[in-house]
Amino acid sequence: MSGHSPTQMRHLDGLPVLGNFIDGHFEYTDDLFPDISPVDGRVVAHVAQADAAMVDRAVRAARHALEAGAWGRSTVAERVAALRAIAGGIEARFEEFVAAEIADTGKDIHHTRTIDIPRGIANFRFFADLITTMGSESYHTDTADGMGALNYVTRRPVGVVGVIAPWNLPLLLLSWKLAPALACGNAVLAKPSEETPYTATLLAQVMADAGVPPGVFNLLHGFGAGSVGEAITRHPGIDAITFTGESATGTAIMHAAAPGVKPLSFELGGKNGAIVFADADVDEAADGIARSAFSNCGQVCLATERVYVERPLFSRFVQALRLRAEALSPARAAPGSGIGPLISQAHRAKVLGYYDRAVRDGAEVVCGGGVPRFGDARDSGAFVEPTVWTGLPDDAACVREEIFGPVCHVAPFDTEDEVLGRVNDSPYGLAAVVWTNDLRRAHRVAGRIETGIVWVNTWFLRDLRTPFGGIRLSGIGREGGMRSLDFYSETTNICIKL
Ligand code: NAD
Repeated sequence: MSGHSPTQMRHLDGLPVLGNFIDGHFEYTDDLFPDISPVDGRVVAHVAQADAAMVDRAVRAARHALEAGAWGRSTVAERVAALRAIAGGIEARFEEFVAAEIADTGKDIHHTRTIDIPRGIANFRFFADLITTMGSESYHTDTADGMGALNYVTRRPVGVVGVIAPWNLPLLLLSWKLAPALACGNAVLAKPSEETPYTATLLAQVMADAGVPPGVFNLLHGFGAGSVGEAITRHPGIDAITFTGESATGTAIMHAAAPGVKPLSFELGGKNGAIVFADADVDEAADGIARSAFSNCGQVCLATERVYVERPLFSRFVQALRLRAEALSPARAAPGSGIGPLISQAHRAKVLGYYDRAVRDGAEVVCGGGVPRFGDARDSGAFVEPTVWTGLPDDAACVREEIFGPVCHVAPFDTEDEVLGRVNDSPYGLAAVVWTNDLRRAHRVAGRIETGIVWVNTWFLRDLRTPFGGIRLSGIGREGGMRSLDFYSETTNICIKL
């Protein structure tokens, strides 16, 4: 099969077939895999899996767009216009994007309407604004002979960028990479997660309608190791790789990219801690931790999975969190207000493995710990109960390893130094939250936490100009504002003797 119209989607048995987008048109294969709703196990679309030859063709199309096509000679103003047209194109089809994201993930409509799709739009607008106002570095240098020199820095695109995205915030995280890559004048090969191919396919239509030239945005569907993901990371024609996903996948990509010494930007896993001091407002802290632990069914890299509460507040806090977790239980909550499902049966098996492991390791299950029963089609979905544990030692697997589900462990602490040691004792270093009303303590403690982001009395509050990323197993480099533009461009310093 091969595609005809750049913007038309095919159908099979009444379901959409999500195609690959190469050199400005959809391409289909007979190698279809199902896109499954985690709400009830229904197939919502068929996905045409790409192969290595298609990756190769996409790389050549991208190179052509840069070297012979208009994109390679595009002005900043033209790229800004393209980014704004993409943002407008998503906005014009807002409800379609919402429905597609929900079909893939089962996430709640409020989250999708207020975070996923709006942030996807905002990412394109943000980088359009940023690239418009970007200046250039320059230095006047005094030379030994009493003359001077002018140094100034020019930027050029890196080239063809491989963009590999995860399933938890599909459009948001894909566009967070695509927007700066395109703003800087690169061409991309994008691979969404095999679990969430839908909004990326709609985005290909939006790109075509927005007039993005053929070859600039290529979309390839498929899996990771031994499939399209690996083919992208191993391809010698890919100049840089940006990846968000699991830390172990990051290691595999580093190996694949090593022969070409390719620049890598990695946003990886987390095992994020929160500290609640006894002076904090217990309800405010419990609301905040419930949000940071259970939003998106806990499938957020920034989610809180370890909570440390100063001992005088410990029992009250655990009870306050229990009430909030129980209110979010998918089987008991009011319609539309409980947590959604996990992404898949496979991921549920992993999360339930941790639920069992916690009990075997001596956890007290404050609430949850199992699978809700609905008595309807959702019993074929991937739901779990929001879960709170206490009583595990700091070296338990459930306190050290990323679970990526709606679960957190709560432990008491006695001193500031003690809790900082425990929070920092992690192979990860992505995010942390401090809940306190003591201003001096907030600054003191935040400055000693070894993560890329520390929030005080809030969570998930983002200014897109700020650096975003993690240390240790949580990633390499930072995204956000100028940090993104630095990754997606190569600089040349020009030194002129005056
Ligand atoms: P994953 O690593 O399994 O998959 C991510 C993407 O990589 C998918 O598109 C997948 O097909 C691809 N992939 C898998 N193996 C590959 C390989 N060998 N070569 C090339 N590509 C490969 O991650 P996931 O399960 O989709 O996402 C969840 C993970 O992502 C969690 O660990 C979470 O913490 C992390 N995450 C991190 C951030 C962050 O900003 N730090 C944000 C969101 C998610």
